[in-house]
Amino acid sequence: MNLAEPLLGWYSKEGRDLPWRQNITPYKVWLSEIIMQQTRVAQGLPYFEKFFRELPTIEAFAKADQDQILHLWQGLGYYSRGRNMHVAANQIMETYDGSFPTTFKELKTLKGVGDYTAAAIASIAFNQPKAVVDGNVYRVLSRLFNIDKPIDSSGGKKYFQELADELIDPESPGDYNQAIMDFGAMVCTPKNPLCEKCFLKEKCEAYHDGVVQERPVKSKKVKVSNRYFDYFEVYKGDLIAIQQRDQNDVWKGLYQLPLVEVKNRLEKGAANISQLIDTKGLEISEVYEKKHVLSHQRLHTTFYKVEIDDLKHLNGDYRWVKRNDLHQYAFPKLISNYLFD
Ligand code: SF4
Repeated sequence: MNLAEPLLGWYSKEGRDLPWRQNITPYKVWLSEIIMQQTRVAQGLPYFEKFFRELPTIEAFAKADQDQILHLWQGLGYYSRGRNMHVAANQIMETYDGSFPTTFKELKTLKGVGDYTAAAIASIAFNQPKAVVDGNVYRVLSRLFNIDKPIDSSGGKKYFQELADELIDPESPGDYNQAIMDFGAMVCTPKNPLCEKCFLKEKCEAYHDGVVQERPVKSKKVKVSNRYFDYFEVYKGDLIAIQQRDQNDVWKGLYQLPLVEVKNRLEKGAANISQLIDTKGLEISEVYEKKHVLSHQRLHTTFYKVEIDDLKHLNGDYRWVKRNDLHQYAFPKLISNYLFD
């Protein structure tokens, strides 16, 4: 099937006008591709603009400290992306003299850059015929060719990558990759694809066989675990205690309120703060409960408030910060919603 010609024709008229597509540089492609992973364009766009405004070069990105990166990343989720980018920016400065490597193989040595991002940078910034395979591409190809191989199996991934590599336009690999991703995001969408208006309808095997909604096929269900977090807003006058998460766990590097994690729902409760503080004479009030869903974890959280009369009563590695200065720290959305909404 010659996919390149109709797709590129469509892309030249209908492709999305996005800021990283103007005056293309590898830095812009890298920044945009990593921000847009697991993220809708409408949500990621302001983040790209903010990062590009504050850190316009790879050098500026490398020189920033991690707290600044996480602060800019706040609210976007999957924070390991921001931490990995910081490492990659320093790799580029130290190993590649401040210029992005140009080959797929070298690009993959950068922290946080896998097959997908390396192919995107190699094709869009350096015009190399490397096909990207993201969720959009899996969906479009599985429908056009009516492929029932699971996209989350190693055999399926290899099959789709080989097919995508065969289909790419060697003359315009960057535009072709962006065209197929735009087509997946705008026409061949997960729910309610625009089949009746689709210019590939005649070629589409899943459409002819009436199985569009069954493509792509996935074999595994994501296993989600439950965790129980009690957060305590511990304060004295204008000062409030916060702590940086440093363990290898969700939200590493971000700030939070004093936390007690318990094993199950029965253990939850205001009394848990006695693990952090002597509660004698203190009034602890529950503010609210909130369920927060991450990709592999369901967090059952409860927020409490407690005023203390001596900062020394809270033992551990906490910072005391003025309420008005809290916005200078990067918090996960769950905590910033509590603090600022
Ligand atoms: S006909 Fe429907 S399923 Fe097939 S490519 Fe077009 S939008 Fe996708």
